[in-house]
Amino acid sequence: MKRIGHFIGGQRTGEFGRTAPVYDPATGVQTGEVGLADVAEVDQAVAAAAAAFGEWRHSSLTTRSRVLFAFRQLVDEHRQELAALATAEHGKVLSDAAGEVARGLECVEFACGIPQLLKGGHSAQAATGVEVHELKQPLGVVAGVTPFNFPVMVPLWMIPNAIASGNTFVLKPSEKDPSAALLIAALLKDAGLPDGVFNVVQGDAVAVDRLLDHPDVEAVSFVGSTTVARHIYERGAAAGKRVQALGGAKNHMVVLPDADVEMAADAAVSAAYGSAGERCMAVSVVVAVGAVADPVVDAVNKRIAKLRIGAGADPESEMGPLVTRAHRDKVASYLDIAAAEGAKVVVDGREQPFDGDGFFLGASLVDYVQPDMQVYQDEIFGPVLCVVRADTAQQAIDIVNANRYGNGAAIFTRDGGAARRFQHDVSVGMVGVNVPIPVPVAYFSFGGWKDSLFGDSHMYGPEGVHFYTRTKVVTSRWPDPSTSQVDLGFPTHR
Ligand code: NAD
Repeated sequence: MKRIGHFIGGQRTGEFGRTAPVYDPATGVQTGEVGLADVAEVDQAVAAAAAAFGEWRHSSLTTRSRVLFAFRQLVDEHRQELAALATAEHGKVLSDAAGEVARGLECVEFACGIPQLLKGGHSAQAATGVEVHELKQPLGVVAGVTPFNFPVMVPLWMIPNAIASGNTFVLKPSEKDPSAALLIAALLKDAGLPDGVFNVVQGDAVAVDRLLDHPDVEAVSFVGSTTVARHIYERGAAAGKRVQALGGAKNHMVVLPDADVEMAADAAVSAAYGSAGERCMAVSVVVAVGAVADPVVDAVNKRIAKLRIGAGADPESEMGPLVTRAHRDKVASYLDIAAAEGAKVVVDGREQPFDGDGFFLGASLVDYVQPDMQVYQDEIFGPVLCVVRADTAQQAIDIVNANRYGNGAAIFTRDGGAARRFQHDVSVGMVGVNVPIPVPVAYFSFGGWKDSLFGDSHMYGPEGVHFYTRTKVVTSRWPDPSTSQVDLGFPTHR
């Protein structure tokens, strides 16, 4: 069985005490065991990162951008290997896994431009003979704690900007799919990153809490569920750290009566059931306005019947299994909850038979959901799409805005004015207009509002660089050269 350990100071470590099982979700078979770091192992990783900081922070921008360019090349060459690791431990289909590598790669490409990104402002002659300029300096050792659902992309939201800005990094990946982080570590080493600049500690809450409390960790970036995000934010801030903690989501897709129904149904199906609904930007609620509701429900229903669900490694599969048996069962339980609450279960994914012991659940569709129902309020994080019916576009916006989450929201319409009104009035961090999953490109930044983000910096892009640097403003006065003790030949005072 595969033993998955840490990566500290440029070396993989194979000794560990507590462990957790790692599964192939397509078969339900345990394929590995991952070490769960205790406090001493976390301290070792932080010490390695702290030791590497002194030299790395003073490395030239050229050195850092060359490492990033080399890393970019290596990630590109290892796309398939990275995607295969994500599929093997997460279960998502290979095309999805390749997509997450591609989106992560964009964040590496952004960080290759670090010399440009770290330019500060300069004011000449702020007063007579006085210049003011900014230095953007790294923080020190920064930590990243990442979720199971994007084992390649989410670490790559953090690592490139953090190290390009001159910080050193300790990553604590999800214990459910820990292998991709080790390949990322190996590729960074091959790219020429000095030992200790990037470290991986595998683990659970014990490791995370030690990172939050450790006096030498200056900042923590977190992506995961809202309950844990709030904990990370509160505990990290109480320890005086800079924290960005991205939480859960309940993303709405509003379909107006003038929308192209076929296009909206295609979008709803790929955004709700892609990656088995285990995406923080998955559409989990369609808000159908007026008479469009019945045609949209029918069109989604027809598409569900054709959806090919199977092992992620099978190129024919369009949707894979869920990450664990416990998570699959919890997601499935919402279908009973929905029925008991009076919603209409149009398609019950439990009725679809699957061979073997994989953690599969068929795509499910629930209509006539009301905002006060639990099936609406909870983040289900699986292939269960709810439909809420609204009378007007304004009512649809009010429904989205009353939700506790504010990650993404999309509108499907042909009306430019309605789309404009929606993007201005909706209380979320990322908006799609006829785009169901509006994940910003790498030169913008990713983040939600309300319970989807604790902290004030979004992740990657310009806000990522901002998060990983602190600004120093230098004010300097220069004597006029005509006052020099040596005659330099300048005329007296201009
Ligand atoms: P999770 O919150 O259970 O775990 C995330 C990380 O926190 C893991 O590394 C885990 O080991 C650690 N952790 C878990 N419990 C902890 C605790 N009590 N104390 C300290 N650390 C703890 O999330 P998950 O199940 O891995 O991922 C799915 C969740 O992540 C969903 O809620 C999803 O919406 C969210 N997510 C959000 C975004 C976003 O950008 N907002 C992106 C991806 C995933």
